[in-house]
Amino acid sequence: MNILGNLLSHSVQPSSSNKRRKGIEIKSPREIEIMRQAAKIVATVLKEISQTMAPGMTTADVDAYAEKRIREMGAKPSFKGYHGFPASICSSINNEVVHGIPSAKKVIRTGDVVKIDTGAYYEGFHGDSCITIAVGEVTPEAAKLIRVAEEALYKGIEQVKAGNYLMDLAGAIQDCVVANDFTVVEDFTGHGVGRNLHEEPSVFNFRTREMPNVKLRAGMTLAIEPILNAGSKFTRILADKWTAVTVDNALSAQFEHTVLVTEDGYEILTDRSLV
Ligand code: MG
Ligand code: MG
Repeated sequence: MNILGNLLSHSVQPSSSNKRRKGIEIKSPREIEIMRQAAKIVATVLKEISQTMAPGMTTADVDAYAEKRIREMGAKPSFKGYHGFPASICSSINNEVVHGIPSAKKVIRTGDVVKIDTGAYYEGFHGDSCITIAVGEVTPEAAKLIRVAEEALYKGIEQVKAGNYLMDLAGAIQDCVVANDFTVVEDFTGHGVGRNLHEEPSVFNFRTREMPNVKLRAGMTLAIEPILNAGSKFTRILADKWTAVTVDNALSAQFEHTVLVTEDGYEILTDRSLV
């Protein structure tokens, strides 16, 4: 088990999910409507950040902007204070995989691959989403990694439908990543999301018996968030006890959406094209 326990992206905790398997919440129409609003706030903030990020900004600048916008829209930052996390976004650059802590000393440069993950808590419910931004001109490999990371997320989402299984989703993500010669990070997973930032079920990004193979039902809300590495799948945690980095310093990319399961498919609640 990861010493950090329950992180902003679920850290993998073997077998622990089994005992809470019955705890998967089906959201009511009223709750879903609130989640749409929470998710829309997240989508708006991430869209704005993607349009304004530029070399010379610090990750602390991005964090301050995100917090300001989340609060302006009547929500609270989901991450701030979560298990002691000090900021409203996770900002993870290049070889940093997840949970990078924003800092005034971290300057964003041309060529950087920047993951921005954030959440908003609105009227009792959370939205959660992550994007990877190519800052200026990036290497062809970085561009491909970012493109495939987003593609893998959508391959997973395409499997979301009442009656399908979590393993369908996990397998689709894994197959997309492997076909493109990248690796799936196994140390972190997606999760149910709603009243709590992290709920059951854990949503793995690869086929594994560690994942209870839950049958999807309409009204479930899932944060699906594959993480891809250009090199080794293995990660380690820095001395700040939060930042996960690739063990070989290779690049990492991630996209995440909060997704509603419907009878005939899905609704992407954090869809940035709708804001
Ligand atoms: Mg998440
Ligand atoms: Mg997230």
